[in-house]
Amino acid sequence: MTISARNGISTSIDPVPAAWDPAAILARQRERESSARTYARTLPIVPVRADGATVVGADGRRYLDCLSGAGTLALGHNHPDVVQAITAALASGAPLHTLDLATPEKDAFTEELRACLPPGLGSDVKLHFCGPSGADAVEAAIKLAQTATGNQTMLAFTGGYHGMTAGALAVTGNVAVKNPLPATASVVRLPFPHPYRCPFGVGSAPGRAAGPDGAELSIRYIERLLDDPLGGVTDPAGLIVEVVQGEGGVVAAPDGWLRAIREITRRRGIPLILDEVQTGVGRTGRFWAAQHSGITPDILVMSKAIGGGLPMAVIAYRAELDVWTPGAHTGTFRGNQLAMVAGRATLRRVRQDGLDDRAARLGSRLLVGLEALARDRPHVGHVRGRGLMLGAELVDPTMAADAVGAHPADPRLAALVRAECLRRGLIIELGGRHGAVIRLLPPLIIGEEEIERVLAILADATDAAVRRLTATGHPTT
Ligand code: PMP
Repeated sequence: MTISARNGISTSIDPVPAAWDPAAILARQRERESSARTYARTLPIVPVRADGATVVGADGRRYLDCLSGAGTLALGHNHPDVVQAITAALASGAPLHTLDLATPEKDAFTEELRACLPPGLGSDVKLHFCGPSGADAVEAAIKLAQTATGNQTMLAFTGGYHGMTAGALAVTGNVAVKNPLPATASVVRLPFPHPYRCPFGVGSAPGRAAGPDGAELSIRYIERLLDDPLGGVTDPAGLIVEVVQGEGGVVAAPDGWLRAIREITRRRGIPLILDEVQTGVGRTGRFWAAQHSGITPDILVMSKAIGGGLPMAVIAYRAELDVWTPGAHTGTFRGNQLAMVAGRATLRRVRQDGLDDRAARLGSRLLVGLEALARDRPHVGHVRGRGLMLGAELVDPTMAADAVGAHPADPRLAALVRAECLRRGLIIELGGRHGAVIRLLPPLIIGEEEIERVLAILADATDAAVRRLTATGHPTT
């Protein structure tokens, strides 16, 4: 049965065997797994088959997947290029695990990745293969910046998300790799511009009252803070920023603001680390989100889509930063051959088919649809994002708005909308402050009719969620 149009290619999923008992599998998971489990709580499904933007549950139900492995699956599930590359690698007898040794598969991946990198990083750009998570690549980037500058303090932003591993090095005994100390030792938090929840309370959204804009104030504040001898900021090792904050609630940095950040860091010799773990590989409508503003980082952090759905994380950086010593950032799983071949196939397909342009085009359609949805629904306070990385913040319009017109976030409503979406066959996730932002991260190959279905389900689910909320006042998801 044809179930999705993948970038013009019709694809299919074989019927699901009736052998699984999803309720029993879910019950065993609840009993056996940690109370820290996340997605499994809010998306109680048992995926057994998947293709393109569609996931099939063990109960035979089909879901449109607007989470895509938290933005990992640029080509959707089981893209033929990826499946073929993995199958060929397995059939070839190549070793599957190779630490960081050179292999033909790694060589080919490296060649493809280099062809995709921002040219401003230089032809002598260096790559470091990290442990296979975005967080480990962030740790590597911080350590590299600290080593290269001899400084410890990191500059980071309100709303930023970079991973969960900050403690690993702190409890490690090997002084050689603890030197310099983990970045957690000193982080200075800077204000990230937000068009709806401006850290200065002035906002920067179109239509807001005239006056200084939040992005402009952020730049003025950062410059003055860094230059203030009594500002408390010791010499920074680096500044880390997402071009579009993902987990922070889908907040895009304005292009002019990013260019100013580049200038501030360049003038002061502070390495600029762009975390493109979520935004990379076409997601925001350009291959790298930094291309919207035209800036080049000193260190680029990559993971998620670069492994084609399999675990991989890499940093790319200017050659002059390459002053760390052998073993300075090591790990067992840095040569996953299947991730190399899946990643290479993904990067090539995105590049050859211009899937970044496609993300821009379909993202615009989705954004227009979300704006229409928000227009006659006061519970949808703000719609935003770039390319196929979009969000809608849910608010309580019965509560007083703040000075810039934003009502309080409504996390209960957001959780209800997510549940109503799932009931209607749409997988979405939440993020942002209080978890009140609906996040859409569909694969870049999502079909145009699928976009219309996403919008129809979202509208219906939002209305149902608002009805439940107002009917009971105390909904349960
Ligand atoms: N940086 C960003 C921007 C991310 O979105 C994430 C994960 N959502 C990470 C880093 C951490 O990646 P991982 O979960 O693979 O450690």
